[in-house]
Amino acid sequence: MKNIKLFKTAILTGIASIVTSQGLAASENNIVSWKAPFTLPELPYETGSLAPSIDKKTMEIHYGKHHAGYVTKLNIALKDSPLASKKLEEILANVSAAEPALRNNAGGHYNHSLFWSILSPEKTAHSQKMTAAIEESFGSFEAFQTQLNDAAKSQFGSGWAWLIVKKDGKLAVTSTPNQDNPLMEKLVKETGTPILALDIWEHAYYLNYQNKRADYVSAFWNVINWNEVEKRYEAATK
Ligand code: MN
Repeated sequence: MKNIKLFKTAILTGIASIVTSQGLAASENNIVSWKAPFTLPELPYETGSLAPSIDKKTMEIHYGKHHAGYVTKLNIALKDSPLASKKLEEILANVSAAEPALRNNAGGHYNHSLFWSILSPEKTAHSQKMTAAIEESFGSFEAFQTQLNDAAKSQFGSGWAWLIVKKDGKLAVTSTPNQDNPLMEKLVKETGTPILALDIWEHAYYLNYQNKRADYVSAFWNVINWNEVEKRYEAATK
């Protein structure tokens, strides 16, 4: 009896920890440590609160349909995978071109979770420390902005633009096609720890901006959560 009770408690605790450890609130948003079964993390703000930079309808569909779809398909893709019990970080580092469903959906889940977490309806500023790190790697904040804008605007078709911390601690801008990301060591040219992500799939902006990707990219700068970016920078350079 006692064993059964302990077992039940373990299951309940397990479920509770799955639910509470896959959110985007500050204490739970270590996205790379999440494990299957993956869940759609709650947004830390209302879907309409990023407007006019990112409109409510786009957020509802992007988060509620696209991101939710990646989560569902990721759990399915993992069913017969040797990576099923691994943390998201290990799944991304080890996924290969031979596993397209796992590649696209693990990437889709990680990329969107990071993207939501570095957005905020409240105006935030980059701290002196963050500014200094950016200046050291890019020369100036404006040069960094130009590089990120160019990466976003020149990525052909669907993909992402990133600010990453490289192994030597320096910052770099890079871009990836589809749902790839800089944690996919076997698949991308430039690897590192992403601390800022910009989704440049048409589903991220087409309702509001149509073909004007550049306008969406400029509006993105209004809703960056610099506190979150800095937290991720500090964690990556510790
Ligand atoms: Mn997207």
